[in-house]
Amino acid sequence: MVQQTRQTYDEHQPIEAKAPKKYVYLFQEGNGKDRKLLGGKGAGLCEMTQIGLPVPPGFVITTQTCLEYFDNGFKFPQGLPNQVRQAMAEIERAMSLGFGNPEKPLLVSVRSGAAISMPGMMDTVLNLGINDSTVQGLISRSGNERFGWDSYRRFISLFGNIVLNISDEQFHLAMERLKEERKVTQDTELTSQNMQELVNIFKQIIIDKTGKPIPQDPYEQLFMAIEAVFASWNGKRAQDYRREFKISSKIANGTAANVQTMVFGNMGANSATGVAFTRDPSTGENILFGDYLDNAQGEDIVAGIRTPKPISEMRQTMPDMYRELLKVRETLEHHFKEAQDMEFTIEEGKLCMLQTRNAKMNAAANMKTSVDMVNEELITKEEALLRLDASQLTQLMYCQIDPNNTVVPVAVGLGASPGAASGEVVFDADEAERQAKAGKKVILLREQTKPEDIHGFFAAQGILTSVGGKTSHAAVVARGMGKPCVSGAGDIKISHVENVAYVGGNRIVQGTVVTIDGTSGKVWLGEIPMVEPEISENMNKILKWADEFRKLGVRTNADTPLDAEKALMFGAEGVGLCRTERMFNAADRIGLFQDMILADNPEERLAALRRLLPLQKDDFKEILRVMQGFPVTIRLLDPPLHEFLPSEEAVERQIETLQKYQEALSNVSKLPQVLRDIDPSLQSVLVEDDNMLSNLAEVQSSELKKKMDTLQKIRTLREVNPMLGHRGVRLGITYPEIYEMQVEAILLAAGELIKETVPVKVEIMIPQVCTSQELKRVYGLIRRVERRVKDRLGITIPYTVGTMIEVVRACMRAGRLAELAEFFSFGTNDLTQATFSFSREDAENKFLPFYNEHKILQDNPFEILDVKGVGRLMAITVEWGRKTRPDLKIGICGEHGGEPSSIEFCHRINLDYVSCSPYRVPVARLAAAQASIKEKKGMIKPFQ
Ligand code: ADP
Ligand code: MG
Ligand code: MG
Repeated sequence: MVQQTRQTYDEHQPIEAKAPKKYVYLFQEGNGKDRKLLGGKGAGLCEMTQIGLPVPPGFVITTQTCLEYFDNGFKFPQGLPNQVRQAMAEIERAMSLGFGNPEKPLLVSVRSGAAISMPGMMDTVLNLGINDSTVQGLISRSGNERFGWDSYRRFISLFGNIVLNISDEQFHLAMERLKEERKVTQDTELTSQNMQELVNIFKQIIIDKTGKPIPQDPYEQLFMAIEAVFASWNGKRAQDYRREFKISSKIANGTAANVQTMVFGNMGANSATGVAFTRDPSTGENILFGDYLDNAQGEDIVAGIRTPKPISEMRQTMPDMYRELLKVRETLEHHFKEAQDMEFTIEEGKLCMLQTRNAKMNAAANMKTSVDMVNEELITKEEALLRLDASQLTQLMYCQIDPNNTVVPVAVGLGASPGAASGEVVFDADEAERQAKAGKKVILLREQTKPEDIHGFFAAQGILTSVGGKTSHAAVVARGMGKPCVSGAGDIKISHVENVAYVGGNRIVQGTVVTIDGTSGKVWLGEIPMVEPEISENMNKILKWADEFRKLGVRTNADTPLDAEKALMFGAEGVGLCRTERMFNAADRIGLFQDMILADNPEERLAALRRLLPLQKDDFKEILRVMQGFPVTIRLLDPPLHEFLPSEEAVERQIETLQKYQEALSNVSKLPQVLRDIDPSLQSVLVEDDNMLSNLAEVQSSELKKKMDTLQKIRTLREVNPMLGHRGVRLGITYPEIYEMQVEAILLAAGELIKETVPVKVEIMIPQVCTSQELKRVYGLIRRVERRVKDRLGITIPYTVGTMIEVVRACMRAGRLAELAEFFSFGTNDLTQATFSFSREDAENKFLPFYNEHKILQDNPFEILDVKGVGRLMAITVEWGRKTRPDLKIGICGEHGGEPSSIEFCHRINLDYVSCSPYRVPVARLAAAQASIKEKKGMIKPFQ
C-alpha cells in the first residue's frame, strides 16, 4: 500500500488555529523573540521596553488574532474587546491619562506590523482618541491651540483615508484650497484658526463620502482602526508585495496591530522626529546614520514635506538628545547583536523610541559589519558568518553599474541574469561571433533566442531580448553561463529583417553601443561606467573564516583555463566539472569535429580524431597547469552528436541556394552558344570563360553533394528525444574511438606535465551511466589507452575514474557502481529532470511558474534542490555507495552546487565537495561554513 505522506501542496496552507486565550500583550509582557506572533514591530517594541529603553507604553494585538478575524468572517474573536479595554486601562494608569477623558486625554497610534517588515505596505493611524471634547484637553495640556487642531485634522484625514477608504487626495486638495485662499504656501504658515477650519472641512468630507460623521467615541475609533489594520494584510498592495518578495504564509501570516501612546515631535523647537541606523547601511561604517526634522511628526519625514537634516547636526542643535541616541544605539546593538534601523521622536526634550528592526544593508556593508562586530567583540566569528546572506554575495561578484551613474535608461526589462555589460549591438548569433572574433565587445539583441544561438551567447558580453520572461531561453542559458541578460524589454521594437531596432525615438543599428544591467533590467544607450567585481579585504577575511569552519570542499565548473583561473582566485579547490564539448564547439575545431561525425567509415573518423587529439590535449594541459595540482575532473563527451551539426533547416536552405546557383550557372553556360549564334566573331573572346564556367559548375556540384550527404547524416542522427537518446556513455560505447581519443588526450596532458614536474591530479568522469556494465566497458578502454600512453611516455600516470550520478537507475545501483567507480558526482540538473520526468526547458517555459504560484511546487526544483525527492535519492546513493567503498569521494556538479540551501543539504548528506560556476565559489564557501556552524549549534541535523 502506498503510504500517505504530507506533500508540499498542503504544507503551506494556514494551520488550523487553536484559539489561544491571550490576544493582547502589553509591551512589558510580550516575548520579543516571537516575531511570528507579535509581528516584527511589536516584537521590537516589547524588546526595547524590556531592556529599559524609553518606549511610550502600549500593547500588541497578535497576528493570530488577525487570522482568527479572517476565519470568523471579519469578526473579532470573542475575548478581544475586553482584553483591549484592560490593556488600555494599564496604559491610562501608567500615563495618568484617560482614553476619551476631556481633561487629560490619552491619544494612541494604531500601527500594523507583520513578522516580516513590508515597508509602506500597510498603514498607521495617528492621534486616535481625539474628538470634539478631547481636543480641548489636548490644547490645555499642551498650552498650544494650533497643535491641538493640527493633531485633530491629521487624525481625521488619516482615519478617513485608512479606515474609511476615502482618497488622500480629497483632504490634500481641501488643504491646498485653504492655503490658496489664505495666500500662504507652507503648511506651517496656517494659523490655529485655519487648522480649526480644516477640521470642519475634513469632517464634512467624511459626511459627504460616507453619509455619517466621523466617530466621536474613542473605542469605536479604536476598533475600526484595528479592523482596518487587519484588513490591510489582504489588501492588494500587501498581497503584491508578498508575491514579489516570495513571503509565504510560513514566513509571515497575518499582521499584528500595535496600539501605542502618542508622543509628539511637533510641540516646538525642543521636539523632533527622526529615523536612524546604528551603522551606515550603504558602507557599513560604524557611525550613527540618519535624518531628523525638528518640530515635526513622523509622517512629515516620510511624506517628504520638509527636507530632513542629517543626524550629525543634532550634535549641535540638541546635544543631550544626541548623546542619548548614541547610548540607545549601543544598547540596541549589544542586545540584538545586529545593526538596527530605528525610529524615534523627541517630545519636549524627552527621547522616545518608536521602532527598531534589523537594518537592511547591501552586501558590502553587511560584510564590513560582520568583520567590525567581530573586532568589537560584539559577536563571534560563527555569528559573523551566520548573519550574512550567502546569496547576497553574488551582488558583489558581477560587474555592476557605477552606483554614481545618473544617465537615464531608455528601456527597462527583466533582470534575467545579473551583472552589467556594454557593447555594440548585433542582431544575430553568427554576427556576434564574427564581431567578437574581430575583437569587438558585443551585445546580442534579439526578440528571442533559440538553442542554435548558443555560439552567440559565448561571443557576446551580454544578451538583450525584447520578448520573454525570466525563464525564457535567453534567461536560462545566460544564467547558466553567468552572462548578464535583460529579457522582455518590450519597449525595444526589433526588425530582424532590416537589422534595426527602435526605442523611445532612438534608432539602434549594428554597432550602436548599449549597456545592460541584468540585475535591475535597465538598458541604456552608450557606455555607462561600471565597477569590476573583486574580493575586497572584508570579503577575503569573511571567506577565510568560512574556510575555518566548513567541511565541504568547494570546486568549480570550468571548461576553460580562464574560468579555472578566475575560480582559483575566488578560492576554488579544484575543478569538479570540466566539460569537453565546449572545446569542440570552439571555432577552430568545430569543423574537424563535424568531419569526424560525418565520416563515412572508421578510418575517416579516426583520421579526424587524430587531428583533434593534440588540440584537446593542449586544452587539458592548460587547465591542469592552472589548477596547480588541485584535482580536475574531466568529463568525457556527453551531448548527442547532432548538437554539433548545423540544424536541418539551415542545411536545407544552403542546398536550396546551391541549387539556385546551379540553375543560374547552367543558364550562363548556355551563353556562349547563344552569343555564337548571334555573332560568331565573339567565340574567341569566350574561350577562357568557358573553362572557368565548367570549373565552377564542378565545384558547385561537389559542394552540393557534400551538403546533401550532410543533410542525410543529420537526418540519420536525428532523435525523437535527444536528451534520453544516443548520448553520454552510450555514445562512448558505440563510438569507442571518441572516448579513446579523449582519454589519450587527458593522459598525455597529465604525463607531459608530470615530465615538466608540474603537479597534476586528474579524474576521469563518465556521464549518463546507468549500469555497471557500462562502467566496465569504459574501464577496459581506459586501461588499454593507459598502457599505450605509459609505453609512449615511459612513466606511470596517476588518475582516478568515476561516474556521474544523473540517472535514477544509477542511484539504485550505487552499491554496485562503487565497486568500480572511485568517485561519484551528482549531476543534479539531469537527475532532477529524471526524477520529476520534466524536461527543464518545457517545465520552466510552460507550467512551472503556474505550479510555483499556486504552490503545487514550492520552488523551481532546477534552482533549489528538491530535498524530498531528488535529495532522498542522493542520500540513498551516498549511503549505498559508501557501504561498498567507505572512502568513496562524492560531490555535486549541477547548478545546485552554487545555491545556498542546496549546499546546506549537501552538507547534511555528507558530500565531500560542491562544484559551481566560478563566480559562485565565494557563495559556496560561505554557505558551506554556515551549514557546518548550524549543525554545530543544533540548528540542522544530518539528513535521514
Ligand atoms: P511604518 O511601518 O510604515 O514605518 P509606523 O507604524 O512605524 O509605520 O508609523 C509611521 C510613523 O508614525 C512612525 O515613523 C512614527 O514617526 C509615527 N508614529 C507611529 N506611532 C507613533 C506614536 N505612538 N507616537 C508618535 N509617532 C508615532
Ligand atoms: Mg516605522
Ligand atoms: Mg548531465
